[in-house]
Amino acid sequence: MKKVYSNNNIVLVWHVKNMLEQQDIEVKVRNDRLYSIAGEIPLTECMGEVWVINELNHQTAERLVDEMELGSLPEFYSWVCHGCGEEVDGSLAVCWNCQAPLTSKARDL
Ligand SMILES: [Zn+2]
Repeated sequence: MKKVYSNNNIVLVWHVKNMLEQQDIEVKVRNDRLYSIAGEIPLTECMGEVWVINELNHQTAERLVDEMELGSLPEFYSWVCHGCGEEVDGSLAVCWNCQAPLTSKARDL
């Protein structure tokens, strides 16, 4: 496994994961489990990491991440809460409405 991306904004971490998976690159997100102890650690300090499982894909993944960062990604990527279905601003890691944390179950818009 090789790390391809890390960011304090877990929303962007999930976005990278989804984007790479759409390109058939198998990845793993690390550190997202810190949500289980939310309250102990400020969510903003939960650095998330995206790891490429097959190192042969690492270069491709890095290029895709570079393109994403240079490209058309909106400043904040909004997500849909799996708890209440509200649209949540990408700068937030928990739902403004019901406080559900962002998880992999959150749908992309
Ligand atoms: Zn919600």
